[in-house]
Order: sequence, then structure tokens, then C-alpha cells
Amino acid sequence: MEYLYWLLGISAAFAIAERLRPARPSQPALRPQLANDLFYLVFNGHLWAVLSAGIVTWTATRTREVIQAVDLVPAHGWLDGRPFALQIAVYLVVSDFLQWNVHRLLHTVPWLWQFHKVHHSVHAMDWAANFRFHWMENVVYKSLLFVPIVVWLGGDFAALFWAYVFATAWGHFNHANLDVGIGPLRYVFNSPRMHMWHHDASDEGGVAKNFGIVLSLWDWMFGTAYWPLERAPARIGYPRDEEMPRDVVRQFAFPLARERD
Ligand SMILES: [Zn+2]
Ligand SMILES: [Zn+2]
Repeated sequence: MEYLYWLLGISAAFAIAERLRPARPSQPALRPQLANDLFYLVFNGHLWAVLSAGIVTWTATRTREVIQAVDLVPAHGWLDGRPFALQIAVYLVVSDFLQWNVHRLLHTVPWLWQFHKVHHSVHAMDWAANFRFHWMENVVYKSLLFVPIVVWLGGDFAALFWAYVFATAWGHFNHANLDVGIGPLRYVFNSPRMHMWHHDASDEGGVAKNFGIVLSLWDWMFGTAYWPLERAPARIGYPRDEEMPRDVVRQFAFPLARERD
């Protein structure tokens, strides 16, 4: 089934779940910026993702052919011919670790942070915030993901598809207004309560913390986890986030138009 249908189905499931078990019952379903975020969902989740993944995959495949021709990588990727479930698991773990590193760069490299501010300018967390990000992030993430995956891991693209669907569902989960804890699994997997602290507007525990996408493991391992279990952040956003324009067109232009910090 096409990815778009999975994206819509996962979105509908979380929209219903948020009504049934909200973490913040007073948060309205029709919150400010929801229309923007639904545009981002379709644009980033489908249109631009398909296009940018196509361009990056094509580039990576050509790169692989060129470097194979000069014997820099083996003729077959490490995942070629391995069990399907193993391929999905390896794609998930490898791509999640790469994304954790990229996400860290989005926060620590000043000009990348200007792009990532769009994601952090949401003020009420729900599933629809998952795909609220500047289109450049698709280019940065997918280049850094697909190139090593296609060049070194190889394997079956169907397995990569399932890993991507799983990561989409988990990303929706992380942003959802859902009152769900995952117990001791919190040391392995990310969750709404932990990701709320990534969106914390204050500098408590450091201005940037909890970079994990699906797995929280990397944050615990590398000392970037911050999570006071008994409470949620007082405010979601970033310092001086009133600078962020309200409409998508100006949000797209924001990092380029703005004087760099
Ligand atoms: Zn972030
Ligand atoms: Zn987020």
C-alpha cells in the first residue's frame, strides 16, 4: 500500500486516541497552526518526501555504481539476501542513529537551527506536529540517511519502507497529546513525555536535550537525556519564538530571510 495511505491511517488513529486518552484534556483539537501543520504533513510526509527521496536514492545508487566500479565497496550490500525482519530492524536502528546525529546538528549548527526552528515553533503538542518542519530538513535527513544505506547496506527497499512506516507511527506517538507511559522501556524508546522535554522552551537541563527519534537509547548512552519524570515543561517552544511568522510561505522563507545568529 502506498505510503500516503499509511500516513493518513496513522494520523487518523492518533487523532482518535488523543480524544480517548489525552494527556492535556484542556488542549483544543482545533489548536492554532493546525491548518499549517496539516499542510506540512501532506507536503513533507508525501509530496516532498517522495520527490527528495527519489532524487537522493537515484544519486546514491549512481554513487554506488561508480565506487563499485573502482572496488571501494563490495558488489553486494551487507543486507542483501538477509531475512526480511532483520533488514527492517537494521534499517530502523541504523537510520535512527544517523537521524539522532543529524538532529543534534540541527540544534548545534547555528544556520541549521534556523531551519529547525520551524519544528520547535509549535506551542501545543499533538500528532500533527510530527511533520511540521522546513522542507530543507527532508534534504538534510534523507541525504544523510539514504546515501550510506543505499551505498553500504543495500537490501530490499520494501524493508526500508516498513522501517519508515514504523518510524512515522513512532514520530506521531512522540508528539501526541496522549497520556501513555512506557515504563522501563523508556530507556530504549522515545515517548510523548520525553519528547515534550525536547520541545521545552526553557534552558532547564540544557537548551537542547532528548534528540532521539524512535529510540531514546542514544540520549541515555551519550548523556543528552533530560527527563524529570514527575512533571511536564512549563512552556513549549524556544526562546523568542514570537519571531516565527504564522503562515507556511513566510515560515519557508524564514531561515533565508533572517539575519543569522
Ligand atoms: Zn529538535
Ligand atoms: Zn518534535
